[in-house]
Amino acid sequence: MRHGSGARRIGILGGTFDPVHIGHLRGALEVAEMFGLDELRLIPNARPPHRETPSCSAEDRLAMVRLAVADLPPLCVDARELERAKPSYTIETLISLREELATDDQLLLIVGWDAFCGLPTWHRWEELLDYCHILVLQRPDAGSEAPQALRDLLAARSVSDPQALAGAAGQIAFVWQTPLEVSATQIRQLLASGKSVRFLVPDAVLAYINAHGLYRASN
Ligand code: ATP
Repeated sequence: MRHGSGARRIGILGGTFDPVHIGHLRGALEVAEMFGLDELRLIPNARPPHRETPSCSAEDRLAMVRLAVADLPPLCVDARELERAKPSYTIETLISLREELATDDQLLLIVGWDAFCGLPTWHRWEELLDYCHILVLQRPDAGSEAPQALRDLLAARSVSDPQALAGAAGQIAFVWQTPLEVSATQIRQLLASGKSVRFLVPDAVLAYINAHGLYRASN
């Protein structure tokens, strides 16, 4: 889909995807449809220093995300963070994405409210909006009081109508979305205790987990 000037609209959603599950996929699909995205790229993270080590390899996480979106345009996978030798800062990923896009293409960085509140701790956070818009996913049941460090930014950059995001980068919009109550942690725990995760992950992902014996207690 082209937006007036011919610019494309591309969303990016980072995560460990350990493993990818229906919460990620359903949420991503809703955002993609809501914004008429040309692409929504799921970007599996290399092991971020602030998280526990994911319990399966980067190769397996990537393979599962590929299977999950194989038949689900405009969702797709972008493996650039796994192709680097070390964990990527978001700013680096944005810069590298920008090098491949047309100047007027819109880039929408999708983050949950909790992650957004931690923005001032991100590397070179003040530059993020030079490269993308930020789409904040807000749970209807969550508080919406932004931390002090973000208030000025929000006052200057937020738009009340997310559909009105204009230009290639620079604005912040909020989307209210009720997430499905599923997490990768829950899925790993179920598998470790020998329980089924059917219907929590796509069947192709489940088949991969079983074929490779992932997340079993003996791993
Ligand atoms: P873990 O349980 O291992 O912390 P997770 O299920 O939260 O993992 P991540 O890979 O950390 O998954 O999430 C990637 C992105 O997907 C994050 O931005 C997160 O907010 C979002 N996300 C996670 N779970 C859901 C869900 N159930 N519905 C919608 N979005 C989700």
